[in-house]
Amino acid sequence: MTSPDVVLRGGRVIDPESGLDGVRDIAITGHQITQVGNGLLPAPVDLDVSGLVVTAGFIDLHSHTNEIPGLRLRVLDGVTTALELEAGAVPVEHAYQHAAAEGRPVNYGFATSWALARLEAVAGLAATDNLDFLGNLASPAFQQAASPVQLRAILDRLAADLAAGAIGIGVLLGYSPGTDPEEYLRVAALAADAGVATFTHARDLIEMVPDTLIDGAEEIVRAAGQTGARMHYCHINSTSLRHIDRVLDLVSRAQAAGSRVSTEAYPYGSGMTGIGAAFLAPDRLPERHLTPRDLTYALTGEQVASPERLRELRAADPGGLAIVRLLDESDPADCAVLLRSLTFPDAVVASDAMPLTWPGPVPDRMAWPLPAGAVTHPRTVGTFARALRVLAGDGSGGSAGERGEHGPLGLAETLRRSSLGPAQLLEDYVPAMRRKGRVQPGCDADIVIFDPAAITDRATYQDSTRTSAGITHVLVNGIFVVRGAELVPTALPGRPVRAQPR
Ligand SMILES: [Zn+2]
Repeated sequence: MTSPDVVLRGGRVIDPESGLDGVRDIAITGHQITQVGNGLLPAPVDLDVSGLVVTAGFIDLHSHTNEIPGLRLRVLDGVTTALELEAGAVPVEHAYQHAAAEGRPVNYGFATSWALARLEAVAGLAATDNLDFLGNLASPAFQQAASPVQLRAILDRLAADLAAGAIGIGVLLGYSPGTDPEEYLRVAALAADAGVATFTHARDLIEMVPDTLIDGAEEIVRAAGQTGARMHYCHINSTSLRHIDRVLDLVSRAQAAGSRVSTEAYPYGSGMTGIGAAFLAPDRLPERHLTPRDLTYALTGEQVASPERLRELRAADPGGLAIVRLLDESDPADCAVLLRSLTFPDAVVASDAMPLTWPGPVPDRMAWPLPAGAVTHPRTVGTFARALRVLAGDGSGGSAGERGEHGPLGLAETLRRSSLGPAQLLEDYVPAMRRKGRVQPGCDADIVIFDPAAITDRATYQDSTRTSAGITHVLVNGIFVVRGAELVPTALPGRPVRAQPR
């Protein structure tokens, strides 16, 4: 037997699949875990990790942060795989080639993109590198109903990407309220035929928009029932808001009836999207009990003062990112609403991480420490540490360990929802996922090691790139990307993750 390259010695190993929670050594050879046991032989890199938790790296199904600077902030939150499955990419092969050419600190993968396929077929806009994606989603040209010929073109584009290994179909349905519900069913049927999942940003709920073409939650559940597709309900927290109980009840009943509907949530009350989004039009804000002052134009930190000012910003920079205060994190009732999304059975933690926005020219992508001035949503940087703080601990502040892990989910379950849970949602059609989310011999050495007494998020809405605390080491495919709580700037060991087309 070849001797291992790395031994992580004496940590508290938590394997979400077997339920192991005990002090063990872990040996890593190449990109794989080769042994989990006690008293393992020394290795060239032999690290004492006693007192620390050693577990599977976090797998994020919902990451719009796909460039090196933002991914470095993510790895400092324990992320080892970041997948762009909701917005997606078209052509998906181009996204994989771009990532491979630059290298990535974490494993990466992409769904194909209904929105980009639709922009091309319905609005005549090709998916080029400098396309203002969010800005164009705001345009009526994108949001109109598709003709039969246009729908055929959308489905053909998606099918071609699935054949190329796209990890399912991302569907930003909520940005196109005029889409015929039949179109969504056709997209779901395509996913069912290919044996892959859809990842949907739901249409408006009927409580918010009484004349919506179909209730956004009913639509997902109906498509799962009618087509048999796996339907993943993205950020159920931010599209359901205070109607969460009705939506979760609907999802529960669909699951009980055998439909393959899954859910995710992120632990923040505010969202972030392009300020030109259909549902942020001044006259539509009351649907979500919002006023312009609930919007902050992220680049400048300007709180939007009036409907007139909102119209100006939407016209001048429709794709410009805005923080949207959807739920009030200082209101216990709203916090309880958020918690119901996060604690729903088998809901996974997913960040909806956003790209970094720079006020001036984008700095060299390899520059580290991160050059000053970038803004994003704090969920980009702190989702997983915050999930541990809120769900593993008691949610009142401080860290998971200090509070004795008496949170609503506890430590092991919070970790399961951050690694094994997402892996299992994909593993039927994404073979790499059968070796991730687990700490076992033969599995990929994607490992996060953290101090349970110190782990916490630090990014805020005002200071959105502050990295999480308490993450001590992170390995991706057996390579240290974080060591001694410091990023290793030369480490780009991320590998592509692809679906196996049927
Ligand atoms: Zn979304």
